[in-house]
Amino acid sequence: MPDSSYNVIIIGGGAVGLGVALEITRRLPRARLLLLEKEDRVARHQSGHNSGVIHSGVYYKPGSLKARLCVTGAAAMVEFCREHGIPHDVCGKVIVATDAAELPRLEELRKRGEANGLTGLRLIGPEELREIEPHASGLQALVVPSTGVTDYALVCEKYAELISAGGGTVLLSATVTGIRQLPGEIVVETTKGAFSTNALINCAGLFSDRISWMAGDDPGVVIVPFRGEYYDLVPERASLVRALIYPVPDPRFPFLGVHFTRRITGKVDAGPNAVFALAREGYRHANINLRDLASAFSFPGFWRMAGKHWRNALDEWYRSLSKAAFVRALQRLLPEVGEKDLAPGGSGVRAQALKPDGALVDDFQFVPSGKILHVLNVPSPAATASLMIGKAIVDTAAERLGLL
Ligand SMILES: Cc1cc2nc3c(=O)[nH]c(=O)nc-3n(C[C@H](O)[C@H](O)[C@H](O)COP(=O)(O)OP(=O)(O)OC[C@H]3O[C@@H](n4cnc5c(N)ncnc54)[C@H](O)[C@@H]3O)c2cc1C
Repeated sequence: MPDSSYNVIIIGGGAVGLGVALEITRRLPRARLLLLEKEDRVARHQSGHNSGVIHSGVYYKPGSLKARLCVTGAAAMVEFCREHGIPHDVCGKVIVATDAAELPRLEELRKRGEANGLTGLRLIGPEELREIEPHASGLQALVVPSTGVTDYALVCEKYAELISAGGGTVLLSATVTGIRQLPGEIVVETTKGAFSTNALINCAGLFSDRISWMAGDDPGVVIVPFRGEYYDLVPERASLVRALIYPVPDPRFPFLGVHFTRRITGKVDAGPNAVFALAREGYRHANINLRDLASAFSFPGFWRMAGKHWRNALDEWYRSLSKAAFVRALQRLLPEVGEKDLAPGGSGVRAQALKPDGALVDDFQFVPSGKILHVLNVPSPAATASLMIGKAIVDTAAERLGLL
């Protein structure tokens, strides 16, 4: 027997689940809304373990959800931070080509950014690069003025506060353990009791495919965890970086390549790399989860991906285990940086959906099934775009789940 009933339940207290819940409390102030989070605070996983960058939208394919929701989402995020007094800085960034082969890709990024509606993009030469970032080196750079930084853990705490103030309930330490679809209702079983609802939105990040199976649906993808590891520039050398210095990304991968980020706290970090993690919440090498490994290894798409990208995967592992190799990758952008300038930093684990054919899902993916909406792929820039992702998901839920 459910302990109580709701109009809508959301699983996951990260930026995406909270963004959805906030949008529902704004559009449907009288709806009974429950958000379930297994940890004892919000933003305990991806949303609290990221680079804190407010991405501009320069990278994404024009017309994609990522492009549309990032560009509008970045502006909404800056406005949200301003309105609620959350520290942020629209400091701009440079994307630096260090090899002649990267020059056409840099020009392509400029065109992409313009197609996505960004303004102020400029290609500059080495001298002007040194005026902006005196220690960076490269053949050419793209200046992206609308990129910024903030602290997404603070953003998420504010989302949760506003959801509660808007009449919603954020229930922490409530792990979803079962989902039963009955005629006219869905019962969600948790470690804090069972709750019934008319509509369910799955925003469980690294576990969104498992929640989908739990509900009796086939997600069609498997979530593969990619750990991103950081080093911190030691405080005496933090002056090597003024704002954000990025490489030209390899278009074959969804990750941006190791870069330098001056965080909103002033601390400068270097990274993240992208290493296949041996556990979905595997923040360290020693974290191994056999169930997580079995779900990856038993999926044919995993071996197809491994067949295509094994060389890159080995390089990433080597860079993860060898500080010297990690530093060599960074020296392409910042030749003066040395091993002694870097101290071990934190890490985060990205939830990346993988298709049976071995391709990594590129765009955001929301999949309706009956009265449930599964949010199956919301990698970077989903923290930046979380307010706009919230709106897009509520639009889909209104149409497909009859939420409004
Ligand atoms: C290293 C790294 C760097 C990144 N850098 C950036 C960046 O600079 N800018 C940017 O915009 N994006 C960045 N991202 C991406 C961004 O952080 C994510 O796309 C975003 O946080 C995803 O939010 P989410 O709510 O989907 O996932 P999460 O934050 O992981 O939230 C999912 C939640 O679901 C909960 N959950 C899971 N299973 C259950 C269950 N059974 N019951 C109850 N709750 C459950 C989890 O505990 C978790 O809190 C980065 C990500 C990483 C990992």
